[in-house]
Amino acid sequence: MKPAPFEYHAPETIADAVGLLAQHGDDAKPLAGGQSLVPLLSLRLTRFDHLVDLNKIGALSGISRDNGHVVIGAMTRHRAVELDPSIATSVPMLAAAMPWIGHFQIRNRGTIGGSIAHADPAAELPAVAAALDAELEITSKSGVRRVAAADFFQGTFMTAIDTGELLTAARFPVWGKGSGFAFTEFARRSGDFAIAGVGVGLEATGGKITRAAIAFMGMGPVPVRATDAEKALLGVSIASLDAAAVARVAVGATDPTGDVHASAANRTKIATHLAEQALTRAASNAAANA
Ligand SMILES: Cc1cc2nc3c(=O)[nH]c(=O)nc-3n(C[C@H](O)[C@H](O)[C@H](O)COP(=O)(O)OP(=O)(O)OC[C@H]3O[C@@H](n4cnc5c(N)ncnc54)[C@H](O)[C@@H]3O)c2cc1C
Repeated sequence: MKPAPFEYHAPETIADAVGLLAQHGDDAKPLAGGQSLVPLLSLRLTRFDHLVDLNKIGALSGISRDNGHVVIGAMTRHRAVELDPSIATSVPMLAAAMPWIGHFQIRNRGTIGGSIAHADPAAELPAVAAALDAELEITSKSGVRRVAAADFFQGTFMTAIDTGELLTAARFPVWGKGSGFAFTEFARRSGDFAIAGVGVGLEATGGKITRAAIAFMGMGPVPVRATDAEKALLGVSIASLDAAAVARVAVGATDPTGDVHASAANRTKIATHLAEQALTRAASNAAANA
């Protein structure tokens, strides 16, 4: 099938893009890498009278540092982040998650902003953003606002981005010395959307955990932070972490549903094993970085 007819706009500045989005309101949709939007349009699962193509806006691409954060422009391709050596050292959980996103052909086109704005509950980047307390920078004609990841993901495919607004960047905090990260997931075939996945970050000082972050994907309508397990980890010796026990507590925060890929019970079992693996790896990485 082909998409329903639409008017195509290709602005070259953020100001022009948000101007078009404001002018056309709910009839307009930004087009980034097109890896999710174009199939939806082509299958006529959705339609918009105006597509605002972001690909000519150079200011939306790039990776920089600002005030303890790595700032990634919304139009930065997945592959650019995956291959940037500074991401592996400054935001290791993000680097660990990138290769899990689809296939490399998808990552060549797909963008950081597109993945986060799309807010698929089974996607990797929303879970990483939630785990790391990333801030999402949203721009409209009236200015720029920053939204914490905890407030950004509001439901399946639903975010805090309002009509007339554009996601312009994602800001990922850089953790300190003694931190270790892991990201893992399970899919039936390599490159498929995962049945479940988890990102873990641990920071330790003097051998004791001082900071913990655990976020699941595919285990609810939005990324799920396991806050009880995170709190229970504080003060625990990194060398004697009982990853299996923490994983069982962590998965208690989730509320998965069943579908054709897995029942809710099966998802829970998979996510528990994944969390145990990720906790073990993150603890070992944190100990190595002490
Ligand atoms: C075969 C296949 C397998 C895939 N597997 C995975 C996977 O395993 N994990 C995964 O996470 N993804 C997967 N994807 C999706 C892929 O990662 C997409 O790139 C991503 O979901 C959307 O990014 P995009 O840049 O292509 O956005 P688009 O498809 O262009 O846009 C997606 C949505 O976000 C909106 N949007 C885009 N940019 C902005 C912005 N800056 N501000 C506001 N709204 C914006 C669009 O309007 C649209 O609603 C897969 C896709 C395919 C085709």
